[in-house]
Amino acid sequence: MSKDRIYLDYNATAPMLECVRDAMVEVMMMPHNPSSVHREGRAAKSLIERCRKDVAQHLSCFPHEIIFTSGGTEANNLALCSVGNMPFAVAVTEHSSVRAVRSDAYFIPVLPSGLLDMQALEAWLMRVPAPMLVAVMLANNETGVIQPIAEIAKLVHTYGGLLHCDAVQACGKIPVDMGLLGADMLSISGHKMGASQGIGALIVRHEYPMTPLIVGGGQELGRRGGTEAVPLIVGFATAINWMQRTTEWREKVRVWRDAWEQHIMMHSGSDASIILGYDAPRLPNTSCVRMKGRSSEVQLMTYDLASIAVSAGSACSSGRIAPSHVVAAMLGSDAGSENDIVRISMGWNSTEADMHIMRDAWCAAYDKTT
Ligand code: PLP
Repeated sequence: MSKDRIYLDYNATAPMLECVRDAMVEVMMMPHNPSSVHREGRAAKSLIERCRKDVAQHLSCFPHEIIFTSGGTEANNLALCSVGNMPFAVAVTEHSSVRAVRSDAYFIPVLPSGLLDMQALEAWLMRVPAPMLVAVMLANNETGVIQPIAEIAKLVHTYGGLLHCDAVQACGKIPVDMGLLGADMLSISGHKMGASQGIGALIVRHEYPMTPLIVGGGQELGRRGGTEAVPLIVGFATAINWMQRTTEWREKVRVWRDAWEQHIMMHSGSDASIILGYDAPRLPNTSCVRMKGRSSEVQLMTYDLASIAVSAGSACSSGRIAPSHVVAAMLGSDAGSENDIVRISMGWNSTEADMHIMRDAWCAAYDKTT
């Protein structure tokens, strides 16, 4: 990626790791269909099974519990559509690929901190017949707020329910351990951690019976038909292995993020900035800043002209900025009708200099001293 641009939008997509590119190119040049019985086919099969083992080891689950998908959206859809029509509740701050799956979903509110309202969840669990299905993400894509999934899983299980956890933003940025989390299903995505777009996985514990979304072929133990995307799977496992070995960047970005937020809070004065999720546990790389009354669109354009790519937290597929349901859920009537937040998200290739340039651009935009 060109270094005359500062890329601070890793929660949208991360640049591909060089080791991922190299591993994928090597595999891409071979005729690899894991269903073929000849030597090339058998080699492909053993390659994807090795990748499955690597991913399983990273997440502390069994290899056969992993279903490779085309990404986080498909993993979320597969999880939530394939276990039957049970009563369904989702955290109100979930990604659209969870929120949009069923029109009869109950939306569990969050507290102003962004953390799930556990009392509201328990009240719903008491109201509906078991088994029920609950979806709560591990880390929010806009604010980075981390939900207490182990505690939520315990509560859901007490009432005889199933818990799905969208760990798309968390995986690679914080430890993700299926055993410790206690979720029954978990979604992850490759392109958020330096693998290619178009690959992800759903992990389903205890061989829970599922109706596949894509039928035919019997791949992935009959849970997702279609020839496996061997180069993408190899890239995915390579990225997960790299993320497991290389964790020091996470602490660095946390320090730079905290320094940035200190600066904003010290200097914003009458512009009344708010850092969403500040009081909750958060991903180390994410900062979601609200500049009250300053449109996200204008803020983003200002930073883009200063060669910095950041985001408004949520974007439609058309590229237009949508009002944020996450901000609305956290701030209630204080949220205002216009999106006025900017999300900064760093990653494995970010530098302290990137954040200094961002800070200088913020100061120039609001006429503050550095
Ligand atoms: N879940 C969350 C929390 C996300 O942030 C995203 C993507 O932004 C997705 C799911 C969808 O993942 P994918 O882009 O791999 O379909």
